[in-house]
Amino acid sequence: MDEQEMLHAVLSSATPPTAEQKSRFEAFLSKRHGCPVTLEWVADEALEKGFRLQVGSEQYDWTLEGRLRQLQERLDKLNPGKMSVIPLMEDAIASWTPEVYAEETGCVLTVGDEIATVSGLEHAEYGEILLFSGGVRGLVQDLRPDSIGCILFGNGSNADAIAQGSIVRRSGRTAGIPVGEAFLGRVVGALGTPLDGKGEIEAADYRPIEVPAPGILDRQPVNTPMETGLLAIDSMFPIGRGQRELIIGDRQTGKTAVALDTILNQKGKDVVCVYVAIGQKSSSVAQLVETLKRHDAMDYCIVISAPASVSASLQYIAPYAGCAMGEYFMYQGRDVLIVYDDLSKHAVAYRTLSLLLERSPGREAYPGDVFYLHSRLLERSAHLSDALGGGSMTALPIVETQAGDVSAYIPTNIISITDGQIFLESNLFFSGQRPAVNVGLSVSRVGGDAQTRAMKKAVGTLRLDLAQFREMEVFTQFSSDLDDMTRRQLTYGQGLMRLLRQPQYRPWRQHEQVILLLAAMDHIMQDIPLREMDDFRRSLLDSVQDAEPELCAQLDEQGTLSDAEREQILSRAKEFLTRYQAAHAESAGG
Ligand code: ATP
Ligand code: MG
Repeated sequence: MDEQEMLHAVLSSATPPTAEQKSRFEAFLSKRHGCPVTLEWVADEALEKGFRLQVGSEQYDWTLEGRLRQLQERLDKLNPGKMSVIPLMEDAIASWTPEVYAEETGCVLTVGDEIATVSGLEHAEYGEILLFSGGVRGLVQDLRPDSIGCILFGNGSNADAIAQGSIVRRSGRTAGIPVGEAFLGRVVGALGTPLDGKGEIEAADYRPIEVPAPGILDRQPVNTPMETGLLAIDSMFPIGRGQRELIIGDRQTGKTAVALDTILNQKGKDVVCVYVAIGQKSSSVAQLVETLKRHDAMDYCIVISAPASVSASLQYIAPYAGCAMGEYFMYQGRDVLIVYDDLSKHAVAYRTLSLLLERSPGREAYPGDVFYLHSRLLERSAHLSDALGGGSMTALPIVETQAGDVSAYIPTNIISITDGQIFLESNLFFSGQRPAVNVGLSVSRVGGDAQTRAMKKAVGTLRLDLAQFREMEVFTQFSSDLDDMTRRQLTYGQGLMRLLRQPQYRPWRQHEQVILLLAAMDHIMQDIPLREMDDFRRSLLDSVQDAEPELCAQLDEQGTLSDAEREQILSRAKEFLTRYQAAHAESAGG
């Protein structure tokens, strides 16, 4: 618009308009915009059928392509769920007349490294999806006074359809993914597209990937256990449904293994498990899926994979997509377990995008809002109030440290957001103590509410005893002659550490954990040589299970244990110990 309130319009078509057509255009535009208009004609060989009229950032698209798009949008509106299409299509075609309508368009200024800057689109919103040529979608991440920064979700092949100057349209929708029951048992990408070659997935709903976390009144305290099946964790760092417990450790310390065992332990407990793989090798994800299938666990799992080979933008949205997927079930009143493996790689993907968007780098070159990035994700895990159905979403975020340094930027951030951490240590892992849980540095801040009464009773002073043992171990390292009392305490501690070792894919049931703990805390395993511990443990469980089947079932189902029942288990265990020692003395003697 120039100074005398005169609009300038550009008409593009293959052939020039006649004088009569030109004056009709001018009359139409000046009536619509309420001021005089000058029309300039630009030849465009590509527009053989129809024309395009540009006034400011508004565009009237009367090309064949544009009209077909209108038709398609009309069809989409009529039929959002994509049900039986034919009658709807007939209807739409019968009632369709192409309209002259203006839509907001913008134009690509720069493009590269999965980032595009766009001019125009004055009304675009943060988080909106933009439509680029060639079917590429973009997500608005930055609104600046004269341009928009957006990240692209191309799949490599169609990303080069975008060039400087190509047209961008608004979609009016925020980014979201399809969700639903049909996703159970499937492996999908960060946008919900199937990756397992098992065909289309029929979605029940479409959820935005970013939604506000439930408020305080929407929540209730965490009070139901989410058992991992790992004795070292369930006994000392119990996790509750709705809690966020960080799994942290160096590379190759069994972080994924802890999460995977927890998923396997949810079999038959009506918990939906979502595993989000971020920036991992595709082969590791494939292996994990194989393991899940081998243990018949896939049918209650959804795997979302954004491996290292996909763009940083997909890695960035993958955990939010997984969270949206989990929320769908949570708001239906169900229990969900979600694993983010891992958030260090997520932060790196976000750092890449931020630097490309020319945001200023902060500590360790991460952008200033990297804390908020993870807090708004993890805050969405909750135990919902009964009014909202009482569902829950438990989050197990994983973070990789460098040389055990928990004070680096990302680890400290996430430690402060979560309700506790399981700290896995390389030294323990390599000495054979697996899962390599560091008892001193791990914590679960939700506390005993997330533990059944039976477990609480059985655990007793386990943590304290282990702490004492660690201290004593350091003190006695160099002294050779120890008094009897100290030696006994050392072997007791070593026995406890041995007891906490557990092979992969073999989660203990609750009654097994209770029996083992009761026996160990009562020093029943004191004189068992360490190398016989695994056998002893197995046979002890078998013998108590055979003797007390009802009690075991009660422990699994109700999680209660009276004092009398405790004594009952202990006397069974002692009986077994006597038999075991007698048998061994015999075999040693004979
Ligand atoms: P990365 O940093 O590569 O993601 P990670 O910390 O997730 O590694 P895992 O892949 O879970 O570690 O485990 C590393 C190796 O240790 C695997 O080969 C796994 O099988 C083995 N492992 C993990 N836990 C146990 C266990 N309890 N008993 C025996 N082996 C284990
Ligand atoms: Mg891992």
